[in-house]
Amino acid sequence: MNSAQYISTRGGIRPVGFSEAVMMGLAEDGGLLLPAELPDCRAQLESWRKLSYSELAFEVMRPFIGNAMPEEDLSSLIQQSYATFRHRDIVPVVKLADQLYLAELFHGPTLAFKDIALQFLGNLFAYFLQRHGGCLNIIGATSGDTGSAAIHGVRGKPGIHIFILYPNGRVSPIQELQMASVADENVHCLAIKGTFDDGQRILKQIFNDLDFKRQYSLGAVNSVNWARILAQIVYYFWAAFRVQEQSSWKGSVQVAVPTGNFGDIFAGYLALRMGAPIHRLILASNENDILSRFFNTGEYAVGEVSPTLSPSMDIQVASNFERYLYYRCGKETGKVTELMKRFAAEQHISLTGSDPEFAAGSGNSSETLATIRKYHDLKGYILDPHSAVGVCVAEKYSLQEIPTVCLATAHPGKFPDAIAQALGDGTLARHPELSKLEGMPLRKTVIEANADTVKEFVESFF
Ligand SMILES: *Cc1c(COP(=O)(O)O)cnc(C)c1O
Repeated sequence: MNSAQYISTRGGIRPVGFSEAVMMGLAEDGGLLLPAELPDCRAQLESWRKLSYSELAFEVMRPFIGNAMPEEDLSSLIQQSYATFRHRDIVPVVKLADQLYLAELFHGPTLAFKDIALQFLGNLFAYFLQRHGGCLNIIGATSGDTGSAAIHGVRGKPGIHIFILYPNGRVSPIQELQMASVADENVHCLAIKGTFDDGQRILKQIFNDLDFKRQYSLGAVNSVNWARILAQIVYYFWAAFRVQEQSSWKGSVQVAVPTGNFGDIFAGYLALRMGAPIHRLILASNENDILSRFFNTGEYAVGEVSPTLSPSMDIQVASNFERYLYYRCGKETGKVTELMKRFAAEQHISLTGSDPEFAAGSGNSSETLATIRKYHDLKGYILDPHSAVGVCVAEKYSLQEIPTVCLATAHPGKFPDAIAQALGDGTLARHPELSKLEGMPLRKTVIEANADTVKEFVESFF
């Protein structure tokens, strides 16, 4: 077994290769896919720190791909995925304060960090379809950011259609424009008459209809897809190297991560296990703090989801948490299965012991606004509300000698209401790409919130 063979966290499938893992999304036993082994990269660190972002991505990803594609194809796929970014460093790392840095992950087409993984995933899908034939119908539900990043990952790609469900009237005008202004014929925006939870429920029902799933070759783009995690491992190495370069600190650094589904920070956890120079990860949640409560008390218990200024983190049940449990349970899939079953039945589990690789905390709305104000006043830098939660929690866990880098997950121009609340003027953080969207026509279908109606809509295209 090696790092290009994938097993399920619940132990119920035979090992599969990279391309199968990517196309499968969720494992067929209900678990999540993980590489059977993680490579140890410590001997390569010194040569890796000299590489460009795309070169580093190639080196980090290579052991996980195996013989799924020739090396030159992987290399050109990566080049192509990051050529759409607007900054020549792809992920610039900037200094925000003494011992505090930001890794700006938002220079992709939709101005949120999800582009880093979804540009790559879109190209991967197209590559595998081209080689193995067939078509793919992606169905996803979104409360905002994922939908637009997924659409921009596959727009115009032959053999692929994408259907994105979002709650009609409940996503921000900018988010709706980023999805529904896209003119490509393979993009279908379904504004459901319901909530985001209705969208997720419909998605589950559709994917549980295995005949339908097979007949229409359904694919998923949510963060259970292994390729998304893989693409995100890269920038943890990158950010740690850049901070070491810019500070006089040669040891490992702290990384603070604004967290919702535990996808982004789980990639950081794998980077740490692979030997990236990371001292520990600082998990930052907003008022929806199931994850920070878990790392501080061992209790993993669902609460009510409440809307906050950082909507992409308004999540209580984190879909990638199971992947972490696998390592926390010493890779014993039987234990993971038992815990996940108990969680499904009782909405609650508790674990003994703690994990020194994580520190965790939450930042509420007033702290988020105060953090945005603080760095605007001090540095003229405007944080988006998600990144502000990360910075606010990072400050609580800063260590004197060890620098911390916080992941900046979105451009502030995407959240003008929060910026207006913090700074009194929402136009302070405008981005030209977003201004261009104003007044563009929307291509969307308003539709009843039930699975049959959505299935009929999908069928009508074939
Ligand atoms: C999705 C998202 C997050 C949360 O990422 P997870 O992988 O779900 O933890 C944070 N910030 C922004 C802007 C996002 O779009």
